[in-house]
Amino acid sequence: MNTAQFDLIIVGAGILGLSAAIQAAEQGLKVQVFEKYAQPIGATRRNFGMVGTSTLSRPNAKWREYALATREFYQRIQAQADISFQQRNGLYLANTELEWLVLNEFAQAAADYQIPVSLLSKQQLFDQYAYLNPETALRGAMVFHEDYSVEPHLVGLRLLQYAEKLGVQIYCNASVVLTQFNQGMAHIRLASGQTFTANKVMICHGEETQLLYPELLQQKGLLRCTLQMALTKPLKVNLKASIYSGLSISRYPAFEICPSHQDLRNESQIGLVEKYGIHILIKQNEFGQIILGDSHEYYPIEDIPQFNQREEINQFILQYCKENIGLELPEIESRWNGYYLTHPTELACVMEAETNIFLVSAIAGKGMTTGAGFMKEMLENYIL
Ligand SMILES: Cc1cc2nc3c(=O)[nH]c(=O)nc-3n(C[C@H](O)[C@H](O)[C@H](O)COP(=O)(O)OP(=O)(O)OC[C@H]3O[C@@H](n4cnc5c(N)ncnc54)[C@H](O)[C@@H]3O)c2cc1C
Repeated sequence: MNTAQFDLIIVGAGILGLSAAIQAAEQGLKVQVFEKYAQPIGATRRNFGMVGTSTLSRPNAKWREYALATREFYQRIQAQADISFQQRNGLYLANTELEWLVLNEFAQAAADYQIPVSLLSKQQLFDQYAYLNPETALRGAMVFHEDYSVEPHLVGLRLLQYAEKLGVQIYCNASVVLTQFNQGMAHIRLASGQTFTANKVMICHGEETQLLYPELLQQKGLLRCTLQMALTKPLKVNLKASIYSGLSISRYPAFEICPSHQDLRNESQIGLVEKYGIHILIKQNEFGQIILGDSHEYYPIEDIPQFNQREEINQFILQYCKENIGLELPEIESRWNGYYLTHPTELACVMEAETNIFLVSAIAGKGMTTGAGFMKEMLENYIL
């Protein structure tokens, strides 16, 4: 009887693929990863690296459990190898009375969900974060202590190295162009013509939708979201927190539990904010530079990925930082677009494309926060 070369082949070395590979290897599986570029350069490289454990999903949703499991995954690995995971407070700034009201309502409810937060009055905010300009209309803030950070330029590479140490075989510059189930096992073909076999295959393709099962992905109604991002030159001050704007309070699902959240959405989701899904996030990297963004524009996956940037979005973000946050940012050093897939109603996309070959994607803007926990469950459900 023929036997497969691997228990599991994973296509794609983003956070979903790598966290699945590591957790499968920890369970004793023989794992092979294929990545089409020399290193991860998809959403896992292009993001902020904010691990917002308590805000990227509703507190009572399954996704918060994934976030807590993801934290456990990062902590466990960080104890053995530096993957750049660290605690970093999340600072949510309120400019308007309604933003401040929602933060207060959240503070009331947080203990019920074991979410450690502290409210800061205007005075406490400027005392603790003296780099903020008191001339602005900042009303107060909330600190989320259960917030963490990874360095986007490091985390993918370091997880890849860690996976290799665990015995996962990694093959970069290897585009998978065909996967097929026949004669009791999954067969894989690379663009180079090389073929491999495995008992099961997990395709964590990120926003790449043209190579494997394109029709199936299109039928699913997935959307590609484009996000405009920027990196500044180093800021001399240590921000001591990841900064989320009032617009993030109206955007992030955790705040939906607050009675005044819908009023806040009605108030702030207007004009360019609504048109381009803008909210302002400010994340300092290990060199002191600020990763700044972002916007959200959604198109069907069969459309070409948006290659240009809209200057009106860039200007809006810079002006908001200056006027509402009171932060003088250094000159912009570079800009890029990031992409992820999302679904209009589902929080991720999981399909068995053919026997023992699974597509897992469309985790949208929460992959660095929830990805490893989500993939742990995918392994339990479909692979182990
Ligand atoms: C701008 C931006 C900011 C974000 N900020 C945050 C944040 O602060 N916090 C947070 O939690 N989340 C954030 N996210 C979301 C998070 O980055 C994504 O959810 C996550 O990285 C998705 O991981 P992935 O593995 O699905 O995709 P990717 O990281 O895109 O990885 C997919 C990989 O598969 C490879 N691949 C695809 N097809 C093939 C093939 N046929 N053969 C071989 N290789 C293939 C690709 O080359 C790629 O490396 C952000 C996303 C973006 C775009």
